[in-house]
Amino acid sequence: MDQHTRFDLPICLAVEEDAFFHSDEIISRYIPEIIGQKAIVISEEFLIGIYKEKIDDISHDFGDAEIYAMKSASFDEAVTIAKKVCTEEIKIIIGIGGGRVLDTAKYAAHISKAVYICMPTSLSNDSLASPFSVLETYGKARMTLSCKIPTAIIVDTNMIINAPEGQTLSGIGDTIAKHTALFDWKLSAKRSSARIDDFAYALSRMSYDSVYHCDEKNMKSRVFIRILSRALVMGGLAMEIAGSSRPCSGSEHLFAHAIEEYYPDIKISHGMAVAIGSIPACIFQGQDPKGMIDFFRTYGLNTDPSSYGITEDMFADMWKKARTVRKGRITILDDTPYDRVQLGEIYNRMVEKI
Ligand SMILES: [Zn+2]
Repeated sequence: MDQHTRFDLPICLAVEEDAFFHSDEIISRYIPEIIGQKAIVISEEFLIGIYKEKIDDISHDFGDAEIYAMKSASFDEAVTIAKKVCTEEIKIIIGIGGGRVLDTAKYAAHISKAVYICMPTSLSNDSLASPFSVLETYGKARMTLSCKIPTAIIVDTNMIINAPEGQTLSGIGDTIAKHTALFDWKLSAKRSSARIDDFAYALSRMSYDSVYHCDEKNMKSRVFIRILSRALVMGGLAMEIAGSSRPCSGSEHLFAHAIEEYYPDIKISHGMAVAIGSIPACIFQGQDPKGMIDFFRTYGLNTDPSSYGITEDMFADMWKKARTVRKGRITILDDTPYDRVQLGEIYNRMVEKI
């Protein structure tokens, strides 16, 4: 399952200032053959309110494309959109928004075989270019579904600079998590017949390195936004090439999944949860987390679990649940005996920010 030989790459990755105001020019530069085809813009009601001017402009650039406000980030909604796309002979889906919109639009494009143009309003995780969509299936239960990656990715640096800081921090967390994810991937390859895809490994490593070793410490700067957007896209492509999420997801992600599934009331973004998970994961792996802790501190990324309402008992339980939340995924947790005392120590160390 981890190995396959076919993969796609996006035709366009444009990271430009005010890119959303000239998306038609960008598309005609990269994929001129689709210009003039019928398009639909997918977003959410509140985003359509906030970014009215930009979204209207994009709709206008694509032949006054219908602006569709999706109702939920669900499988059913993706199917509804895909049905509309197929029956109205729409050829291009433009997703404008955060993870919810982008995952739904990506899956709708996958089902309807439409060209998918991804236009993120924030850089909160690496799903923008990944071959997966996380969607609600039955009720609120969410599932990760395989799908096609976007044909084009357009990042408007101005848009990202003005997005809430927490979202960019979340994207930073998801990128830094690759450090422990790659360790776990190697470990799992040693333990099973699965092969490491060297190219996917290198790409994910470079994604991590470009942000971790970035000289630009101001996350609102254009330089940093450019580096982060490329890093997130590279992470997505590493998953596409590997044919699995392993290059970007290890024990730190299992911790985040345990929160999502067992503690839905904890309000924490995906990237923050994996950032918090990365520190204990580093410790379990026998790596010194100091560099990572210092890095998070430099950008003001808060890894104190108590500030998200996570108590010591909850923290310990989350790590217990992380062991079983994705059965069959080999990580350092398989080699780490459950040790409540150690988890208490790690928790307190994180709360005291030592
Ligand atoms: Zn992630």
